[in-house]
Formats: sequence, C-alpha cells, structure tokens
Amino acid sequence: MSDQGDLSKHLFLTGEQSWESAESRSMIPPLYATSNFQYDSVAGMRAALDDEVHSQLYTRGNNPTVRVLRAKLAALENTEDALIFGSGVAAIAAGVLSQVNAGDHIVCVRNPYSWTSWLLEKWLPRFGVSHTFVDGRDPSNFETASKENTRLYILESPNSFTFDLQDLEAVSSIARSRSITTLADNSYCSPLYQKPADLGIDLVAHSASKYLNGHGDVVAGALCGPKSVMDSVFGNEFQGLGGIVAPHDAWLILRGLRTLELRMERVASTAEKLVEWLLADSRIRQVYYPWHSSHPQFELAQKQMKRGSGQFTVELDTDAPMLTENFCDSLQQFRLAVSWGGFESLVIPAIAKSGSTLPPGTVRFYNGLEDLALLQADLDQALTRAFSR
Ligand SMILES: *Cc1c(COP(=O)(O)O)cnc(C)c1O
Repeated sequence: MSDQGDLSKHLFLTGEQSWESAESRSMIPPLYATSNFQYDSVAGMRAALDDEVHSQLYTRGNNPTVRVLRAKLAALENTEDALIFGSGVAAIAAGVLSQVNAGDHIVCVRNPYSWTSWLLEKWLPRFGVSHTFVDGRDPSNFETASKENTRLYILESPNSFTFDLQDLEAVSSIARSRSITTLADNSYCSPLYQKPADLGIDLVAHSASKYLNGHGDVVAGALCGPKSVMDSVFGNEFQGLGGIVAPHDAWLILRGLRTLELRMERVASTAEKLVEWLLADSRIRQVYYPWHSSHPQFELAQKQMKRGSGQFTVELDTDAPMLTENFCDSLQQFRLAVSWGGFESLVIPAIAKSGSTLPPGTVRFYNGLEDLALLQADLDQALTRAFSR
C-alpha cells in the first residue's frame, strides 16, 4: 500500500489489527473503563500472572483500549512497539531510567524540555548517574562529551524556544559505533513530520498532550521503540513506577489521531504564513522557525523533517521587558498559557519566567486552528498598542 494509504490506516480505523467488534458492530474501538479482568480458572489466572507482558490482567499493564493506541503509535513512528504513559514526562523518565545504572553517564542536548533537565540535574545525581549538556547543532559534540561510562544520548530536535536541530542520523551513527542508546523527544514534529527511528534513533518519546491528542484536554505521553526494549520497560519502569495512561484518555487520543494529519497541515500552513508576515514587520527583530530559509539549520531541517509545525519564537525589537509584557497582555486570540498542540493559539513570553536569560523581547507562539486573518489582526493590534505607549 502507498505511504499515504498506510497513514490513513494508522490514523483512522484499526485496519487489520483485529478489533473485537463482531458482536457489537461498533465502528469505534470501545472504551474499556475497567481496572481488572477476570479469569474462568486458577490455571488461566496462573498463566496470566506468569506472563504479564502479554496477558490482560490489570490496567496498570494491558488494557484493550490502550493496546489499540499502542499499535497506532508504533505504526506511526515505524517502531516495533509503543507504551503509553500518563504524561510525556513519565514516558521520557521511563525511557531514560530503563537505560542507566548507578555510575553511568548521559549526554543530552542543551536546553531540553525543562523536566528532562530536572531529571538529569536534580534527580539522577542522587542515584549516581551523571550527565553532560552539549550544543547539539554539531554532532561531534556528542562524541567529544562521551566517556567510557556513557550509556545514553538524549535528543530533542527541534528543541523549544530557539528550535535548534540535531542531525539525528549523524548522532545515532556515532551512538551506534559506541553501543550507546539514543532517545529523541519528537513532540515538536509529531510522527507525521519526522520519524527519528527511520534515522537510526532507538527510542522515540512524545508528549501526547500536544499534537497527538490535539484538543487540549488530555495529559499523556508515549515511548516508542524495539520490542525487546519495550518489553523490558513494560516489566520494569512502566508497571513498577506506574505512570500509566487512563483508558479514557487513550480513547480520547485515538479520537484526536483521526484528525492529526488535517490539524498538522493547518497549523503548519498558518505558522509558515505568520512567520513570513512577521519577518517583514519592522517591530520584529528576529523570528525563529525551523521550516524557514532564515533558520541557520534550514538545510538540515529539509533533510530530516517533512515540515515545521505550529510553534515559533519572535524577538520583539525592544530591550524593555515592559513593552513585551504590554504586548502579551494585549493579545486576545493568543492566550497566555503553557503547552501547545491544541486548537487554541497560545503565547509565552520569556519574561514570564523569573531569571530567564533570553533577550527580554523573546516571545514563543503556538498558532492553533483559528483563521489566519484573525490571528494576524490580533498580533497587529497588540504590536500597535505596545509600541505606541
Ligand atoms: C510538553 C512537553 C513535554 C512534557 O510532556 P507532558 O505531557 O507535559 O508531560 C516533553 N517534551 C516536550 C518537547 C514538550 O513540549
């Protein structure tokens, strides 16, 4: 089947994944809102307890609704298996913890997602795991920072705020030559615009709270990778730390996936037009967007990504934090809120965080599904207000 046909199959109905709709004729996979599953005999129960990876025993393990989502995400990321967690952070933490022991070392791209930093800086040192942050724009920095005891490279391409890229193929090939595992956070691109496993990355993590669910009403995460690693994560970090997704949230993500392709096209196309339009405005000093010729790594973006998504950062032409604050307070369509990937447009100025080292005019946007002209008018009126004070 064509790639596009496969994509529709992964996003929409369950295709050849056998779906037990024979009796109910239900079009949509049912929501199994149950904590446990019953057995007819002690022998059946014993067999299940002896093989929890494959058996249906308890929802902090396997649940049929969650299983459908696992199969879809594995298909979308082109990996053998996927596990769904209660947040993106739970997925990343499980992936990282599955790869290290006391005394090991991790090399991580600098400025990853804040709670990825927290795990490396605040939590893992308690258990004797050290790390080095590197400028990921040059793949050789991963090699230079590697030591005898380096077990894992953590990547996030593009990363938030400045959208620096890492050459996933080059870094994964360095890792392979040293038997180091790679884990990439692919939340920005979604599986539609970048497939890290196709470039040699071992483990792919997602915040499903963002594009995968896409409606701003779920917090969840996913970890995708080879069956052998996923089976081990299932039997250890997944069941043992227990950061699972609720079946209802998995069911909502299945619903969200059906429009993933349409939503990604819409946010990408709006972002491309907004970026072009903002670059031409004299009140804007700089725009950061990986899918634009002004991005210093645009060539690499074209090599490993299919398109950009809906986040971009601008630097207003000001050094006055108050102007940036007035600008953001004046926006009406772009709501002041963290996260992204839903239908609604959002904004975060760097000055919202005390102690930020970014220039005071730095503002990160996420454009949602609204009309382009409406968003432009909103940006224009807020710029006019802020710059005329
Ligand atoms: C939001 C986000 C996360 C964390 O995901 P949660 O679902 O909020 O736990 C991780 N990485 C990136 C790039 C994110 O944007």
